[in-house]
Amino acid sequence: MNYTLIPKQLRPIAEKIEAGTRISENDALNLYRSDDLNALGMMANVVRERKNGNFATYIHNRYINYSNICVLSCQFCAFAAKKRDAHAFEHAASEIVQVVAEALPLGITEVHMVGGLHPTLKKEWYLDLLRDLRALDPKLHIKAFTAIEVRHLAQRIFKISIPDTLAVLRENGLGSITGGGAEIFDAGVRDKICRGKETAEEWLDVHRTWHRMGGRSTCTMLYGHIETLEQRVDHLRQLRELQDETGGFSGFVPFAFEPQTTILAHIKRASAIEQLRNLAVSRIYLDNIGHLTAYWVSTGLPLAQVALSYGADDLHGTIIEEKIFHMAGATTPQQQTIAALEHAIREAGRVPVQRDSSYRHLNGANGSTSSESRTRAELACA
Ligand code: SF4
Repeated sequence: MNYTLIPKQLRPIAEKIEAGTRISENDALNLYRSDDLNALGMMANVVRERKNGNFATYIHNRYINYSNICVLSCQFCAFAAKKRDAHAFEHAASEIVQVVAEALPLGITEVHMVGGLHPTLKKEWYLDLLRDLRALDPKLHIKAFTAIEVRHLAQRIFKISIPDTLAVLRENGLGSITGGGAEIFDAGVRDKICRGKETAEEWLDVHRTWHRMGGRSTCTMLYGHIETLEQRVDHLRQLRELQDETGGFSGFVPFAFEPQTTILAHIKRASAIEQLRNLAVSRIYLDNIGHLTAYWVSTGLPLAQVALSYGADDLHGTIIEEKIFHMAGATTPQQQTIAALEHAIREAGRVPVQRDSSYRHLNGANGSTSSESRTRAELACA
């Protein structure tokens, strides 16, 4: 690292990063407070390249939102609806299976499915859907349900414990759980933006339980609303601590809050600078999580390209149809082609690689040789 390009007050942190020493919460706060974005990018890039080399991954996936009907009314959420609302929707399980069946010939490897906390869908609806999706193609990875959905299913629908709920979901086809719903862990923030949602401890406990069962999941942070920088660092601390305990998080996906059509519309959306700063600090602080995603649905593809030099090594996926961010006012496209993602990655000076749901590089992707593929797989498991 070229220390002359790092501001004097950040050099002790840069030395820790170069030595592979863990930074403290206070260090993370100092990084968040820095205006020197280039220095943050340089430091984040050291961690990024140590973990993932010059590769940048994407997944070929299909998003499904089975319903937006939800018993909660989180203030930041423009997606949810009550049954009586004009924008409420609920897809029949057969429709969902049909949509996924149509996406399979495109080569998708994952279906990513989340919804609201639906008050009346029955246990068999969920289990039949998982089984029918798995029957389409046993190799298709089903990534579904946030921690709050898992808790909702356990307590209100299945009426069994969380471990038993996760076990029955897995028996019927669930491959991994999604990282959504973490928002910001601070109890005061949650009370203001998502009253009634699960607590930080409850979110962490669902993931801990899943990890102890041998499952993997991603983790997230919704930032850029009412939280302070200290509360962001505290959120990252809790993720890093659980990862120390279980090692079950495969990647971290931060999202900037989309205020436009929510009741928090007076909040100014996080700037490009803030999004890059947040990615860089996350990459440096979360030293035990292998992958960091620049979620193009949130950042836009041009900024996601830049993010590949600010700590990110993954652009998420082709998606095909996204509702949650777009109902909140996101103006990004609904989908990206593989060609567009690979072009964006190459333009950023990185090597594009298609990955699976565990961030493993797919053999032979992009004409790679077997030894290149092996190197990629080793890096992906870092
Ligand atoms: S964020 Fe999730 S739990 Fe909260 S209102 Fe929206 S769909 Fe429901």
